[in-house]
Amino acid sequence: MSVLSVVLPAYNEELMIAKTCSVLGEVLTDAGISYELVLVNDGSSDRTWEEIEKAGKKDPNILGVSFSRNFGKEAALFAGLAQAKGDAVAVMDCDLQHPPETLVEMYRLWEQGYQVIEGVKSSRGKEGFLHKKCAGFFYGIMSKATGVDMQNASDFKLMDRRAAESILSMPERNMFFRATSSWVGFKTISVSFEVREREAGVSKWSAWSLVKYAFTNIVAFTTVPLQFVTVGGGICFLFSLALAVYSLAQYFTGHAVEGYTTIVIVLLLIGSAIMLSLGIIGYYIAKIYEEVKRRPRYIISRIVRGSEDVSENAR
Ligand code: UDP
Ligand code: MG
Repeated sequence: MSVLSVVLPAYNEELMIAKTCSVLGEVLTDAGISYELVLVNDGSSDRTWEEIEKAGKKDPNILGVSFSRNFGKEAALFAGLAQAKGDAVAVMDCDLQHPPETLVEMYRLWEQGYQVIEGVKSSRGKEGFLHKKCAGFFYGIMSKATGVDMQNASDFKLMDRRAAESILSMPERNMFFRATSSWVGFKTISVSFEVREREAGVSKWSAWSLVKYAFTNIVAFTTVPLQFVTVGGGICFLFSLALAVYSLAQYFTGHAVEGYTTIVIVLLLIGSAIMLSLGIIGYYIAKIYEEVKRRPRYIISRIVRGSEDVSENAR
């Protein structure tokens, strides 16, 4: 019989673990699906790990993985995928914002032969105007780059073992999970779901961390910033050409002394364009440096299956 693994990254979610495990266990049991919950503790500073161990003592289908420190959600998703044994592997947030009923719907589609089932937000939940606009801009760039409509994409998805293995086989450290699952291809279908309110605890995202997330992923997945620099350089060049013609005309008509302001402005403009370009190129080089170091994506400190310590399975 097929088994569904559900990967749940958890960072400071002590208030949610017990609830999420019991709700998921119940929903999946009622639907007659054999499951395994892979909870990845992403270096939480609260009692998340103790809660995971406690949940494991109650439900032998729980696999708890603990990181040595906070490595971020994408790393936690990867570790979960690597540990999952199921024939189908789902990933979802452990704050119940991704509805468990949709998970069952996804599983049914997988049974019908779909290999990647993407969760798509039917609305973006309670987000401010600016947040929505920025997200729209970011996903616009990502959609262009991937050729897949990424608007309202989420980290809620279910994958076939084969699709999960193909994601795991990718060597890069900076990876945008949301886009990667559509990049790998396979027979794909989308399921829309309503983002629920978080029941307890707080969101781990600040405005600044979202901006960083957007930029990191644009760099990890596209060369849009470099194209932007190139186009900017081209525009500067045309502008300089016009200015050169104008200056020469001034020179030949004997009006050449004036122009201090123009020179200062042009110098400042070009100077800042060069600085910006170097910054963007430098960012790519920094990312290349990170990749060539080939450090592990994460470090596991402990693994428990149910109430049994299986830390030797770390990989
Ligand atoms: N998360 C994680 N590591 C982090 C930040 C978040 O594993 O460094 C997990 C978090 O526990 C949750 C999921 O990622 O299960 C989504 O986080 P959150 O609910 O804070 O994001 P939001 O729903 O507000 O976008
Ligand atoms: Mg959330």
